[in-house]
Amino acid sequence: LAAPSVPVRIAPVNSGSLGLPPRVKLVLLGDSGVGKSCLALRFTRGVFDAGCRATVGAAFSSATVTVPGSTASCKLEIWDTAGQERYQSLAPLYYRGAHAAAIVYDVTERRTFAKAQHWLEELRRYAGLTMVLILVGNKTDLAPQRQVAEEEGRHLADSIGAMFVETSAATGINVAEVFEGVASRLAGGMPVSVN
Ligand code: GDP
Repeated sequence: LAAPSVPVRIAPVNSGSLGLPPRVKLVLLGDSGVGKSCLALRFTRGVFDAGCRATVGAAFSSATVTVPGSTASCKLEIWDTAGQERYQSLAPLYYRGAHAAAIVYDVTERRTFAKAQHWLEELRRYAGLTMVLILVGNKTDLAPQRQVAEEEGRHLADSIGAMFVETSAATGINVAEVFEGVASRLAGGMPVSVN
């Protein structure tokens, strides 16, 4: 039986209405293999481990994030799926109390981009809160294998009211922008430049 669909209300830029909670729950969404664990590991520990699924396998990690250009900070609790997304759906507990969600796809695998819509539907079904949403196209270091153009990602993000950034957990490019962007949006400030 399908759960009732609850619209996700996206926090507008500069809303200022949410404020920055001291602890922010961010859920990572996206197909298996897109690099969710590696992004969390890169951000929280500053490293890239090509075999990180085996070594991380952790459901949670956290880091203190300061909003760029301000003194506001929060403890960002990053919820990783720990492989549950292989069942195509995550438990409602995963979404409960989340302030923000990052939908991640792999720019070298078009089917993971096509599935971004599926993960948005999951959010709509289970998350009733006003949430900050960011769409993340990962693995930009694999330029020759790229299947999804940056403009396509940006267009989708615009259409769903999400922030957008392309990243590489391997090189570290733009990874901090994902997490700082979320904190910044929650704080009601201008999102950091996430080109
Ligand atoms: P998850 O299932 O979404 O958590 O994906 P993982 O973080 O486990 O990553 C899946 C695979 O993609 C691993 O072999 C990683 O080494 C690789 N990977 C993750 N991020 C990147 C990236 O930015 N660039 C490249 N080249 N490989 C990546």
